[in-house]
Amino acid sequence: MAEVGNELQRHAAEEHQAQTDGFHLVIDALKLNGIENIYGLPGIPVTDLARLAQANGMRVISFRHEQNAGNAAAIAGFISQKPGVCLTVSAPGFLNGLTALAHATTNCFPMILISGSSEREIVDLQQGDYEEMDQLAIARPHAKAAFRVLHAEDIGVGIARAIRAAVSGRPGGVYLDLPAKLLGQSLEAEKGRKSLIKVVDPAPRQLPAPDSVDRAVALLKGAKRPLILLGKGAAYARADEDIRALVEKTGIPYLPMSMAKGLLPDTHPQSASAARSYVLAEADVVLLVGARLNWLLAHGKGKTWGGPKQFIQIDISPTEMDSNVAIAAPVVGDIGSCVSAILGKVGNDFAKPPADWLNAVYERKDKNLAKMGEMLNKEVSPMNFHTALRVLKDVIKANPGISFVNEGANTLDYARAVIDMYEPRKRLDVGTWGVMGVGMGYAVAAAVETKKPVLALCGDSAFGFSGMEVETICRYNLPVCIVIFNNNGIYKGIDKNPTGGADPAVTTFVPGARYDKMMEAFGGVGANVTTTAELEAAVNEALRSGKPTLVNAVIDPSAGTESGRLTNLNPQSSAKK
Ligand code: ADP
Ligand code: MG
Repeated sequence: MAEVGNELQRHAAEEHQAQTDGFHLVIDALKLNGIENIYGLPGIPVTDLARLAQANGMRVISFRHEQNAGNAAAIAGFISQKPGVCLTVSAPGFLNGLTALAHATTNCFPMILISGSSEREIVDLQQGDYEEMDQLAIARPHAKAAFRVLHAEDIGVGIARAIRAAVSGRPGGVYLDLPAKLLGQSLEAEKGRKSLIKVVDPAPRQLPAPDSVDRAVALLKGAKRPLILLGKGAAYARADEDIRALVEKTGIPYLPMSMAKGLLPDTHPQSASAARSYVLAEADVVLLVGARLNWLLAHGKGKTWGGPKQFIQIDISPTEMDSNVAIAAPVVGDIGSCVSAILGKVGNDFAKPPADWLNAVYERKDKNLAKMGEMLNKEVSPMNFHTALRVLKDVIKANPGISFVNEGANTLDYARAVIDMYEPRKRLDVGTWGVMGVGMGYAVAAAVETKKPVLALCGDSAFGFSGMEVETICRYNLPVCIVIFNNNGIYKGIDKNPTGGADPAVTTFVPGARYDKMMEAFGGVGANVTTTAELEAAVNEALRSGKPTLVNAVIDPSAGTESGRLTNLNPQSSAKK
């Protein structure tokens, strides 16, 4: 009898081994496609999915709020060219992640938001399930694509479609809806294995039409005052060598958009960053490489752009052309292929731009850099934005390989202008929406994806949106140094309640707050600094030790301007005038 019992047990075990389920198929499909990290927040119905992913060798980073996990996934996509995966629970967790998915789509970052969802039958009849919500319908307008999988044998297809949609063409956010029931469905292991798809060439090259390249080169050759404008699409495309060759062979001054800084070192002699207003107004031919003529570029028209110009635009999305102004020479294709095709036609005998143009640009640049140097080199007490930034500028110069995360208003605008970047894809900031709250999600993902230190510079207001993730940073012991420029408030910390009442002004925070104590609460290193020497010592020690660190840098509360550099977007109240 005992022998029969053993035999039965063996059979049961074999049969068990021969089965798989939705949980395992999702993990196997992700791993098969080279996805190694999941950023998420476990809970019903995805707790076991997160557990099993970790058990099966994926790195699972558990956050304290889904929006931060989503922002981490979004920037992981930008850094790695693979879709960043965010995992959330249903309804509220899904909605928290959705902000980040929309952000990824807006910024052209490849990301997949995977959310558990409740019973289809109950949701569709609106019978009131636990966390009931028609998530697929809600996600669709905010995503590049949205899919739901109902049967375990379709998980392979679902993940393959999500990956391809996220990274091919113009990258973006993809929503993948996984109902709770699906995860528990079982399937013969062999059948399951065969149902998985390893996506071949997920982001195929797209070669530009030869005549479009000729048109672009002809325009460039005829230009009197040419300018190259590099956007974060150019940084994402990883065509670093060819882009550099194009700039250097043509001798054309270039301007990097914020997240394209470092594609060529900001100290490059052809950088026109410090003469931005001048070159935008004066250029006659502008070559856009992975940059959109959206609000960040004043829509390509108006006072900013001065006289008439002709645009050449390289972009993978054909419908981007003419979205704001006429594009004289559209070059549609992937940036790598387009830049190399243009380079091929430019040849080695390309006549450099007229000397009067170059002299005018570089003279202005030198003058502006000298002016900025004066502001940076002042010693003031308390510190203002510029004196504190001088320290961080030197830190990045000495550590060019670290990632630099930046969010805030004044803290963002000044840092963008002051801090030179030396390597591509190292500056990670508020992007197309100019959004606050990306800081800690970005910092975590940058540390995880690059396995190198991260310096995150946040305004005190911006930090507040994702500050609880200092616990996550400590828990995973990530080499992240957060510096908070603390001026006690939004824009400034000196506003008064106009009624004279007891409530504080709407733009102020608790004065003298000690954000460094938050880091200490979870076992990290906190430092409160009031001088540039202290700031320098604290940041350098953080980079040396690799320990999670938060430096509370006390900035003059009266420093800073309303809305930073975006004053023009702020409808001023008549009361104020
Ligand atoms: P920035 O804010 O730096 O100006 P944008 O996000 O506005 O940058 O523009 C990025 C552009 O780059 C988008 O229009 C997008 O379609 C394009 N893009 C992204 N990746 C590629 C690629 N691999 N090849 C070509 N174009 C790309
Ligand atoms: Mg502030």
